[in-house]
Amino acid sequence: MNKSKARTSRAQSGVKPALKLFTEVTYLKGAGPAVAAKLHLLDLRRVQDLLFHLPVRYEDRRALTPLFDLRPGMEALVRGRIVATELRFSPRRNLRVAIDDGKNSLVLRFFYFNEAQRAAFADGRWVRAYGTARATPQGYEMVHPEYRVADSAEDLPAEARLTPIYPLVAGITQSRMRDLIRQALETAGADLEFNERLPGLEMPETLAALRALHQPEGADLPLLLAGTHPAQIRLVREELLAHQLCMRLLRGQTHARPGIGIAHLPTAAGTLQEQLPFALTAAQRRAIAEIAADFASSSPMLRLLQGDVGSGKTVVAAAAMLACAQAGLQAVLMAPTELLAEQHQRNLRQWLSPLKIEVGLLSGRQKKAEREAALKAAASGRVPLWVGTHALFQSEVRFAKLGLVVVDEQHRFGVGQRLALRDKGLDGATPHQLIMSATPIPRTLAQTLYADLDVTVIDELPPGRTPVQTVAISGERREEVLARIGEACRAGRQAYWVCTLIEESEALEAQAAEETYRKLREELPELRVGLVHGRLKSADKEAQMRAFQNGGTQLLVATTVIEVGVDVPNASIMIIDNAERLGLSQLHQLRGRVGRGATASQCVLLYQPPLSEAGRARLDVMRSTNDGFLIAQRDLELRGPGELLGRRQTGLIGLKIADPVRHADLVPELQKLADRWLAKNPALAQRVITRWVGDAQRYADV
Ligand code: ADP
Ligand code: MG
Repeated sequence: MNKSKARTSRAQSGVKPALKLFTEVTYLKGAGPAVAAKLHLLDLRRVQDLLFHLPVRYEDRRALTPLFDLRPGMEALVRGRIVATELRFSPRRNLRVAIDDGKNSLVLRFFYFNEAQRAAFADGRWVRAYGTARATPQGYEMVHPEYRVADSAEDLPAEARLTPIYPLVAGITQSRMRDLIRQALETAGADLEFNERLPGLEMPETLAALRALHQPEGADLPLLLAGTHPAQIRLVREELLAHQLCMRLLRGQTHARPGIGIAHLPTAAGTLQEQLPFALTAAQRRAIAEIAADFASSSPMLRLLQGDVGSGKTVVAAAAMLACAQAGLQAVLMAPTELLAEQHQRNLRQWLSPLKIEVGLLSGRQKKAEREAALKAAASGRVPLWVGTHALFQSEVRFAKLGLVVVDEQHRFGVGQRLALRDKGLDGATPHQLIMSATPIPRTLAQTLYADLDVTVIDELPPGRTPVQTVAISGERREEVLARIGEACRAGRQAYWVCTLIEESEALEAQAAEETYRKLREELPELRVGLVHGRLKSADKEAQMRAFQNGGTQLLVATTVIEVGVDVPNASIMIIDNAERLGLSQLHQLRGRVGRGATASQCVLLYQPPLSEAGRARLDVMRSTNDGFLIAQRDLELRGPGELLGRRQTGLIGLKIADPVRHADLVPELQKLADRWLAKNPALAQRVITRWVGDAQRYADV
């Protein structure tokens, strides 16, 4: 349903429409326009989407732990009466709330809080808090626990069920998310089509399985944490099936269309080579040759270009894009972040402007006039090459004669988004597609998972790189780390300092980065320090990146926004603060930002002791290897309880619950099932695709 239409009819009749799975999330109780906008950031647009927003982990808040029983590192639900609240300024501004349960006391410590929060902690009131107990010389404390305050203890009971923890964005709380999902589950219960049996998939049925994950029974916890609960396996199978169905449809449709012959890629690659300060590697040349064969064939290319971070995928894409421009066609390169889009534009311009080839930018943050000019230049065909972000999906974006779509770092984009880009050419011709990914999965597995794609692997790094040397250092030895940075910068090199936070809140992460920035400027007064985080305006961010790129700043304090793709070869040292909090694949991506030039590079994993066993194991893996494939393998083996449900941001093709490596052995059988479904019940296939792959369907059923 069209949103504005829905609103008018609602206003006219004065009643809310009955909730359906396809209703926009705004119609849920507790989801006004502001909350809905935040939900959109999580790609949650319709009630149905909430069903598949799965917990990343569970917390057991079914029993209150007496303060006396706390142990170091223990996660616990505690309750006590507020006995003292104090604002302190050392080592930095923090709020200290002491609570007492009659036998023992505990300090809750907050570094980020507002006045209302502070005022709520009045002496004599009660607090229920869930967090990790840390031992200090003065006794136990919890830093930033999740908490509630009330006037009496009875108002703060323990929970009846396990507590699911969901991925969030700033402005939405866990309890709000839980309530919205509860409403979505109710809606699904009343929907006949959703409760249809799915042939070939065993019990429990979809909705029962979803309930088991969103509202788990305590007895199920061990299986849930092990990832072997029947409800999980059932959903994994359904999701993998949906993706197989979608990819089969996509490949079939795409290949049935006529391709656009582009003959001169080898020549274009030669021309590009003349502009480059380095020689293409053999692996890069091989990749270009495979793309050239696709370009010359009679159906559109669907190719995955895989290569570890730093293997030089961009320049391969540039060669293909140049060939398009020389053939009088357009090409777009789609990046997952604004920062990366801008960097790609700079690189392409540097390589291609001597050849008088224009490179335009379409970004979500452009001003109206700028954007309109860009849209015009795209639609008229005047500018041949384009770089952009999500803004490229929007319906008003049209190209005159699109020959090629390149998608960079595709683990951030799903199949659906690729589909959305496919039909952007004005005359309806189907462009070639090149998907670039740094996600290290074995080639055979890639062929199964990306059933709709041909696979090219760049299995060689450019020559002359010295492997990054990685060390783990305790936060207590910060001085040493500062000395290293000073040394590297005095030698003319540059450094990154990456700040990380556990909760996925851009605002808090930005705040932490700003604080680190101020502190580092005091500690290293002789250095020129820059700062970049997700909250900066696009222009400021670009200015900061540009300053770092051209050597104007020496030390760049950043949040994980720089995780993907940023390229500054002179940066030779990276500090990752609180490295123990990150997963292996994220650490590997981050570390890939250094070691890009000829100088030996270092990566310092700064951790806060005490390290958990899993944290230590991860740091050990990072110290022992730079090989992306090996790291991915170890990642799988190491993911401990509580992480098993995975951090979805690493989902390869927008998978919500299936793990492409762990569940690879399920795929062959589901491929057969997908074929049977497509032959016997294509309508059901469409519905299941819509469930899991979402709005992709809009584009798939043309
Ligand atoms: P990724 O595959 O991670 O996207 P990039 O395309 O960003 O890697 O390339 C990493 C760096 O290596 C860039 O600075 C790029 O200019 C450089 N590079 C690419 N190919 C070569 C090559 N053949 N020789 C030397 N440097 C190269
Ligand atoms: Mg890249």
